Amino acid sequence: MQDCLFCKIIAGELPSTKIYEDDYVYAFEDIDKQAPVHVVVVPKNHYKNITEVKDSSQVGKIFDAINKIVEQLDVKNGFRVVCNTGEDGGQTVEHLHFHLMAGRKFGWPAG
Ligand code: 5GP
Ligand code: ZN
Repeated sequence: MQDCLFCKIIAGELPSTKIYEDDYVYAFEDIDKQAPVHVVVVPKNHYKNITEVKDSSQVGKIFDAINKIVEQLDVKNGFRVVCNTGEDGGQTVEHLHFHLMAGRKFGWPAG
């Protein structure tokens, strides 16, 4: 997608701090970290959000990547995965992504 921020990051047209990459997924440090570890995990295919994913194997690729990143970063005490979706869900970038956060204790449902 021409005007998509994350498509540009994936294509290397905008800089990012890469954490992980495979054929399907690109993951990089969030620019505005909400935890000591805050990685944005993004499918290379452009989907606006979860509702556009009709092929669930795509989500499997993301979860495989998350498990590899978790191993790589060695976040033994646990982590949080968040997928903000749509306006009420707090999504600000309209390219499906999962926040992987760790390194502090999280509250629930907020914080
Ligand atoms: P959302 O709010 O859509 O769930 O998440 C978008 C995330 O992308 C935010 O946490 C925001 O900090 C991050 N973000 C926005 N622009 C950039 C950027 O240019 N580079 C990086 N690394 N992260 C970004
Ligand atoms: Zn995109």
